[in-house]
Amino acid sequence: SLKQVINFGAGPAKIPKQVLEQVKDELLDCGCGISVMELSHRSSEYTAINNRAIELYRELLDIPENYKILLMQGGGTGAFASVALNLLHRGAKADYILTGVWSTKAAKEASKYLKVNHVFPKPEKFNAIPDQSTWNLDPEAAYVYYCDNETVNGVEFHFIPETNGVPLVCDMSSNIMTRDFDVTKFGVVIACAQKNLGPAGITAIIVREDLLGKPSPLCPQVFDYTLFNQENSLLNTPPTFIVYIFSLVLQWVKNQGGLLGMEANSKAKSELLYKVIENSRGFYSCPVAKDSRSRITVPFCLNAGAEADKQFLKEAQDLGFLQLKGHRLVGGIRAAMYNAMTLDEVTVLVDFMTKFQERNP
Ligand code: PMP
Repeated sequence: SLKQVINFGAGPAKIPKQVLEQVKDELLDCGCGISVMELSHRSSEYTAINNRAIELYRELLDIPENYKILLMQGGGTGAFASVALNLLHRGAKADYILTGVWSTKAAKEASKYLKVNHVFPKPEKFNAIPDQSTWNLDPEAAYVYYCDNETVNGVEFHFIPETNGVPLVCDMSSNIMTRDFDVTKFGVVIACAQKNLGPAGITAIIVREDLLGKPSPLCPQVFDYTLFNQENSLLNTPPTFIVYIFSLVLQWVKNQGGLLGMEANSKAKSELLYKVIENSRGFYSCPVAKDSRSRITVPFCLNAGAEADKQFLKEAQDLGFLQLKGHRLVGGIRAAMYNAMTLDEVTVLVDFMTKFQERNP
């Protein structure tokens, strides 16, 4: 069809077309006569793919040698548990910063293994980050946990919390690879792949070396950071095909100018969208406080109400804008603009938004 399809889904999400084309070209023969998905994970060919993926992740994010990179399974949700199970040795309590759905889920999961403190009372609505001076951080916490970009609520941190030496654990599932950040400020950084890193199936974990070595005795092997580090992420059969695509996505990021290229792109895209919302004289609105707005996942709604949202979504769908519907927990509209989304595609969306407003004064 001639219709332009634009995928605004929050994950699984758009993957660069060049990557999908390369996957297609290599699907039946990855260079050794068989498909990459038929290769033994113990083969030298697959080991090279695994190592290349880890190497590119280190290079792109400028990760120092005293941080280890692990490719694990279980999604972001698996990491909610694995973080607690691997850091429990530091103490039986942890501080959680709740800024949305995903940090709340992470806290609930961790509370199976340790005592979870909220650094500020859980707000009724997640649309701002309370000032750091009001937080109640426990210097004896095993770690401090937060989610850098709340995918559902559209709340993003534009600073790194100060924890005075307590290891900082961060879920960057929906904004990893979209801007430069100082890895040395963190103890652990987790990110599921299905937003900025490829298809669903792996979780990339960055962990500072000194936090390894003392997993909980109850930690399943597949969640054990120490074992995964020792085994170079080849403890058991990894999702080999996904790791291969992950490495192609990373190579694509590198070709596009790396983190700085991604950062410039996400800044331009989000500024364009927020400008149209701001200039709509109240036709559209975003519930999030300006200093905590996400550059990546933008929730908004029509002030005319839920029926107007529905009409907007219907027309958008007919035009080929896919997966713009807000998360079932918050409703409204949500545009996810991960790295694979181009500025041109966001321009098409904002042009539609402007015209929709003109047609419905
Ligand atoms: N953290 C964040 C920020 C997410 O957006 C998601 C999924 N959308 C998760 C964690 C959970 O990931 P998964 O579905 O892979 O368990």
